[in-house]
Amino acid sequence: MKIALIAHDEKKDDMVRFTEAYQYSLEKHELFATGTTGLRITESTGLEIHRFQSGPLGGDQQIGAMVADNNMDMIIFFRDPLTAQPHEPDISALMRLCDVYSIPLATNMGSAEILIHALERGDLKWREIIRDKKG
Ligand code: PGA
Repeated sequence: MKIALIAHDEKKDDMVRFTEAYQYSLEKHELFATGTTGLRITESTGLEIHRFQSGPLGGDQQIGAMVADNNMDMIIFFRDPLTAQPHEPDISALMRLCDVYSIPLATNMGSAEILIHALERGDLKWREIIRDKKG
């Protein structure tokens, strides 16, 4: 599965803790991230991650392009709802594309845990079928 990880600045510590906790699960998949989030995760876990641009410099759009290409299976996006983001339109666009393509998207730790457990159970296997059909 292709999984994208994004965390706004105030949520990056949470993302590091989350990926440390679920490293055993995440390491079985192909991981992508926006620039700084990816760097922080790799530094603390050693996980191999393809890093895109930083979010404000287009990283969310790059991940969105993968969604539009039916080439992304799940997104964990720890948003900071209390801080204005300069790239708010990109964030909305990415979430919109997840809805357009029915891509599982978790925007906080509570739902991210559920998605990770679903992933471990194989509940997201339908993505492989859809990806192969359109791909
Ligand atoms: P970053 O981008 O991982 O490069 O910080 C995420 C964001 O802040 O949108």
